[in-house]
Amino acid sequence: QDLDAPFATQCRDPEIAASQPRENAAFVMLARNSEINEARNTIQSIEKQFNQWFHYPVVFLNNEEWDPAFIRAMNQSVSGGAIFDVIPKEDWSYPEWIDPEQARASMAEQQKNGVWNGGKESYHHMCRFYSGTFYAHKALQKYKWYWRLEPGVRFTCALTYDPFVEMACHNKSYGYTIALWEEPNTCPSLFRAVDDFRVHINLPRTPAWNAMMDQTWQPWPIRKLKAWLNKDHVNRQGERWNLCHYWSNFEIADLDFFRGEAYQGLFRHLDRLGGFYYERWGDAPVHSLAVHMLLPPDRLHHFSDIGYHHEPFFQCPGNAPGGQLPGNKALGNGEWSSESPGAIGCRCQCPDLRRRNNRGICLA
Ligand code: GDP
Ligand code: MN
Repeated sequence: QDLDAPFATQCRDPEIAASQPRENAAFVMLARNSEINEARNTIQSIEKQFNQWFHYPVVFLNNEEWDPAFIRAMNQSVSGGAIFDVIPKEDWSYPEWIDPEQARASMAEQQKNGVWNGGKESYHHMCRFYSGTFYAHKALQKYKWYWRLEPGVRFTCALTYDPFVEMACHNKSYGYTIALWEEPNTCPSLFRAVDDFRVHINLPRTPAWNAMMDQTWQPWPIRKLKAWLNKDHVNRQGERWNLCHYWSNFEIADLDFFRGEAYQGLFRHLDRLGGFYYERWGDAPVHSLAVHMLLPPDRLHHFSDIGYHHEPFFQCPGNAPGGQLPGNKALGNGEWSSESPGAIGCRCQCPDLRRRNNRGICLA
């Protein structure tokens, strides 16, 4: 039996699903005023494929004041209401223990070394924000669940059930679509920092944590020696992170987990070390290492049934259990190209809304 099967394998009646008890949830999109067209495209896509039935609100966040034109455009596109808020200055600037001079010098160095977005100060602030202070933002206080959106992403299949309800029902905390290997030069000391925190709070290693280790890594004595020579992505036991992480531009997750003491303690530990600036730690590997360290594996969910595209990768639900069609090679995940299945349209679990079946709230 597949322990992480999709919550549904065919069409539901979305109107019936939407009329059942719901969760306390919102979409969240961080965006710049200049991303108005891309943001509108994202909203139109999620409305078409899901929110036209479910009407969840969208919280828009920005580090600057919102442009009235942006507000107008989004208000015209959402079906469940839009909230516009601004990120407090202190959550989008250097914490007091970081020396801005030293941080900027380090960013220039990252830029020179080809670290992805390493030279962009605002990108570092963004990653730090999404790693920690995002969860405490006042506009999110009243919600239990969030679904993260970004400008310029596309949803390529109808989603006819409520993923928040299913997450709650199945005791899930973190949902993702795409998993990737992190760029090694963005975060050489991150894995050790996270594992140090684990040891500090006396948290035993779990199967989910072990799943983050590189299984091809050397046996013990060689490992120790190599770790002594190069600490990058290696903990104090000489184990190496496999660089696996969930792509955080898509997330459906439990805010209470991230607001909780364990996660926030980890964030404070990481923030103190300065790797959001002296390196270019991304929020994706921070979230991923955290959920693997702090949660049992059955609290994570792969939304293999959600068709999703964020440049340059996509997920088509064809390789979802039950969704695989024999002989059709144009299914699955991969790098985007004009021949990608998503470019023509994913082969979806629910390609045709007229084929309705099954009506229950918890699809277990
Ligand atoms: P990538 O997906 O890693 O290439 O990064 P993006 O450029 O998509 O940025 C990730 C998210 O943060 C998107 O929602 C962006 O709109 C948002 N973002 C990035 N930088 C800024 C910024 O300086 N200001 C604001 N308001 N949003 C930003
Ligand atoms: Mn993006």
